[in-house]
Amino acid sequence: MITEHGVLPIALGDNWAYALPTSDGVIMIDAGPDYDGAWDALAAQLDAAGLHIGDVRYVAITHAHIDHCGLAFRWQAHGVPVVASELESQSFLHGRNIIGYQTQYVFDHMRRVGVPEERISGFIEAREKMRRAYRSGDNTGGGVRRERWPGLIRGTPFRADEELSDGAEIRLGGRRVVLVSAPGHTPGNCVFFEPDTGALFSGDQVIPGLNSNPGWHWDISVEPPKRFRSLPAFADSLDRIEALDVGHLYPGHREPSDEVTEEIERVRRHHRKRQGQLREMLGEGPRTPYELLMTMFSRLPDRRLWQALAEVTGHIDALVVGGEAVEVEADGLLTIRLS
Ligand SMILES: [Zn+2]
Repeated sequence: MITEHGVLPIALGDNWAYALPTSDGVIMIDAGPDYDGAWDALAAQLDAAGLHIGDVRYVAITHAHIDHCGLAFRWQAHGVPVVASELESQSFLHGRNIIGYQTQYVFDHMRRVGVPEERISGFIEAREKMRRAYRSGDNTGGGVRRERWPGLIRGTPFRADEELSDGAEIRLGGRRVVLVSAPGHTPGNCVFFEPDTGALFSGDQVIPGLNSNPGWHWDISVEPPKRFRSLPAFADSLDRIEALDVGHLYPGHREPSDEVTEEIERVRRHHRKRQGQLREMLGEGPRTPYELLMTMFSRLPDRRLWQALAEVTGHIDALVVGGEAVEVEADGLLTIRLS
């Protein structure tokens, strides 16, 4: 159903994509994830609202995670231009290898932050088990957590048809949607704001009730690849969003919300709490990121290592960038101490 802001939310597994009908066609926010049946589900939801795939004039992408941009290549095959932030455009070219799955750097970095080999193996094993379960169609049991989409999601590389800079406007049939650069969740992440309705299409930057994962990303255009310090950028992006006159959040996951200030403040509270915990632990002496992680989450299963490490690393980055802590590397092992 089309909302009071003139938005059709489209549910695709765990994701929302949004259709904005105008007198001149439709603007889509995010392409949607690519699992078996996703495209048909998308078309059916447009049809049910009296809109159609053929009405879509632009697909605007928030970031290069495959649950948001997986179907971009399908839109392009239908002749619909895909537009995205110029800061994110390189990431779309690498498909599964870079769109949230920079696996080789992840394993190397796990070693660097002190994760024992057997736990890295345990992590790889848990991932394989999950993929096997998917292929056999059993995603309900066998120790494998219920997944968020009806099947494996794919990442097909594509090149954005138009690369937009911060503040660029997508104009169609009297509607105007502004790209607001919001790095953090990914290095070139952006959100889309419609000033006339106060609607913010917040992607994974602000997800009501959920703390967006800062993620591990590497810039592979430089040698050696450089890790992006996500959380300090993420916090700056929250400030940028707060400065907009947002009345309503249409997120990439979870339910839309009017509680914009509350959601932003909730995320900041979470950041302050985690960084306070880190300061306390580091007050007792230098620690590797893995030691900090295990003090924070002592019973962490192997399969959650990557995600949890990315979070802890994000908060360490915030302390480092803020001048409160320093990283010391010796024999390939990273240690953090208070400055
Ligand atoms: Zn994401």
